[in-house]
Amino acid sequence: MGELDRAALGARAHELGARLTARGVELVALTWVDNSGITRTKAVPLRRLANAAAWGVGASYSFDFFLFNDDLITGEYSRGAVGDLRLYPDLERLTALSAQPGWAWAPADRYDQEGVVHPQDQRSLAKAAVERLAERGYTAKMAFEVEWIITAESAPDDITSAVCGPGYGYASLSRHSDYLRAVVSALERQRIGVEQIHPEYAAGQFELSVAASDPVAAADTYVLVRETVRAVSRQHGLRASFTPRFAGEGVGNGGHVHLSVWDGETNAYAGGDRRFGMTGVAESFSAGILGRLPALLAVGAPSVVSYLRLEPHHWAGVYGVWGLENREAPLRFVTGSVGERAKAANLEVKCFDQTANPYLVVAALLFAGLAGLDEGGTLPEPVDVDPGTLPEDERRRLGIDRLPTNLLDAVAAFEADTVLTGSFGAPLATTLTDIRKAEAALFTGATAEEIARAMRWTH
Ligand code: GLU
Ligand code: MG
Repeated sequence: MGELDRAALGARAHELGARLTARGVELVALTWVDNSGITRTKAVPLRRLANAAAWGVGASYSFDFFLFNDDLITGEYSRGAVGDLRLYPDLERLTALSAQPGWAWAPADRYDQEGVVHPQDQRSLAKAAVERLAERGYTAKMAFEVEWIITAESAPDDITSAVCGPGYGYASLSRHSDYLRAVVSALERQRIGVEQIHPEYAAGQFELSVAASDPVAAADTYVLVRETVRAVSRQHGLRASFTPRFAGEGVGNGGHVHLSVWDGETNAYAGGDRRFGMTGVAESFSAGILGRLPALLAVGAPSVVSYLRLEPHHWAGVYGVWGLENREAPLRFVTGSVGERAKAANLEVKCFDQTANPYLVVAALLFAGLAGLDEGGTLPEPVDVDPGTLPEDERRRLGIDRLPTNLLDAVAAFEADTVLTGSFGAPLATTLTDIRKAEAALFTGATAEEIARAMRWTH
């Protein structure tokens, strides 16, 4: 992982800082995402950016041990309040924030005071996974889809307070057309290429998708998209909830991930001789992910509330299958239309949600896919029905298993997966499972409604 060239970083920060000063920026927020999926931050005045770029900004080791409610756990690798890490802004991602005038943002990597990457740093792990893929001669493109529910600031817990109308209804769009335009325009001014925005199924629910990019950039973009949506919502008297399940009942917010693997300019998910045009590389990569979905849920559906969302018939994908354009499959293969397939074909992971840390999602998917390549994995028959509609014995005959239905089962699968725990490294893998178990313990005996309420506004 990158050595810190402090002089070069300081000089680059000076150059970029001058441009931001000209645009009226006064403060820069540095963000990282913790193991509970919460974006945490420290900010510096713009004149301190060069110092932050060269020497980092202090942050406690204890941030690895935060639960979603800010409880701190004592994990095997925790050292309590002692010690200091440094947050280094990624200057190439420094962005003036449209919805927070006078502010800029940059994602941060965490190093120790010796200038060594912190072994539990999630963004650095995502970078390491990308490097591993590069060693095999491939790159990946990813994009995170964001779904969210808006409510009126005056009645935030009433899901119908901002929008009450049919799913995908034009009425929802027209009622909030100024708001939606402000969201898109803020994102585009932040150089994020919005591809689509629409009202979703639930009351107050919207979805936004962005162009695919390098995986780490995709995770950064996802952080920025959510914080922009949140800020614009506030400006319009609205509150945005990204929770997997707003209430005990209803449709949830997914955090779907699109991914494709490339050999130079060639998309491995198109033009091949395997099913639906996949190449052998794409098939093995996908098989590595499919076989590990139970373990991957501990990363991509990492909270207790995640499992309220993971129900059959909710387009969340709860059986361990894949299928062509099957929205009830956790792995939905998307070919795109004739003529655009070489560019558009990709795999959508639907069972993940937005309580996940996107950097860990990137790392876990790439490591799982790489393991599939190593194993020369092949995919089983695709499924072209909603597996939840099949009789139980038919599912058994076809070897279709339900994915974990609770967090602890997913954690057990993760702990048993040596590929994932090995690539994450013992400190991070252990801390993650400690955190998940502590969160599960917190909700022992809680009702669905209580769980949903506790996590409605946390992420
Ligand atoms: N809201 C659904 C979910 O929880 C997804 C709907 C869709 O396929 O876009 O994942
Ligand atoms: Mg959707």
